Amino acid sequence: MRGKLVYPWSEELLKYEFREDHPLKPDRLKLTYLLSQELGLLENVREIEPGVATRNDLSLFHTSDFLDAVQATSATGEANPRYGLGTPDNPAFKGIYETGARYVGATLEGMKELIKGASNAFVISGGLHHAQRSEASGFCIFNDVAIAVTHFLKKKPGAKVLYVDVDAHHGDGVQNAFYRSKNVMTISVHQTGRTLFPGTGFVYETGGAEGVGRSVNIPVIPGAGTPELIEIFDEVIQPLFNAFQPDLLVSQLGVDGHYMDPLAHLAYTSSGYETVVRGLKEMSDDICETGWLAVGGGGYDVVNVARLWTLFLSLMLGEDIPNEFPPHFLDVCREMGYDQYPPAIRDQNEVVQMYFSREEVSLDLERTIRRVKELVFPYHGL
Ligand SMILES: [Zn+2]
Repeated sequence: MRGKLVYPWSEELLKYEFREDHPLKPDRLKLTYLLSQELGLLENVREIEPGVATRNDLSLFHTSDFLDAVQATSATGEANPRYGLGTPDNPAFKGIYETGARYVGATLEGMKELIKGASNAFVISGGLHHAQRSEASGFCIFNDVAIAVTHFLKKKPGAKVLYVDVDAHHGDGVQNAFYRSKNVMTISVHQTGRTLFPGTGFVYETGGAEGVGRSVNIPVIPGAGTPELIEIFDEVIQPLFNAFQPDLLVSQLGVDGHYMDPLAHLAYTSSGYETVVRGLKEMSDDICETGWLAVGGGGYDVVNVARLWTLFLSLMLGEDIPNEFPPHFLDVCREMGYDQYPPAIRDQNEVVQMYFSREEVSLDLERTIRRVKELVFPYHGL
């Protein structure tokens, strides 16, 4: 019998703020926690208070010259663009090292609890998938996922990890970290790099050396929504999950692909996410001996993020939640200045029309899936 779902949480995590006007607002986490608490979900999790990851932990993935550079910027607040510090995406600030290292601490401690026997973990602060070995990138200082997965593989040599990333942006940092590894399969579903940061994640990026066939990319065009997300799950994620038989599932559940999100151009709705999260839960319950580490990621409409991640937690726990927001939660949102919010926890509309026509979106996806099946599936006997 495996233990309760682990939920790393500390008010200290709210200090990850580049600038007041930066889209990665700590209120995303604060309101997610509050909504989950008000709906009673946190009574069924085991909260742990994460510490700051050590330099040794960070060195599991990052180079020492990069860690030195982040430490120097942390002391002075001065930019160092060579390492991605002090760019428009990643403004430099004093204390940036500890702040980033605490996010790593949360994900790494979630991973350690899984290794000790927790069933699942949900780390809403995690998912900094753009951070590279020697460069901060796309709001991400340190790559908590790459570090936690490397830790897992050190503890369980030869084990297999499946990483599924549904953030609107390509999970480039995690893909690069394990591009040549036969132990880690990365699957990223994202808006095409032709029209969105970081400009990578094409179907032909299939892995190198021993890792060929284990880097999987499904780029979609602007306007892709719930029908496409579900088709990708059924046609690509599910068969690869079954064929790979991973010991551990790690998923980046960024919600910036939702139609309300201001930074990307996708049109997912809550029901699409529900189908995917439910599917990941069923498959990880059946297949993954070490369970499921879910992390957050992107999502820039604050109340929308809070309701979706709360919905995901309810699915991970197998708990039903109502569709209405608790009145007190909405009072707090208004007090914090968020007076435009969705009418309920789940979207009413299944399909949202944006950018390309439905026919164009679905034709493009058909071509993409055919290509993925040609380039990747044969490596897995499919
Ligand atoms: Zn994103």
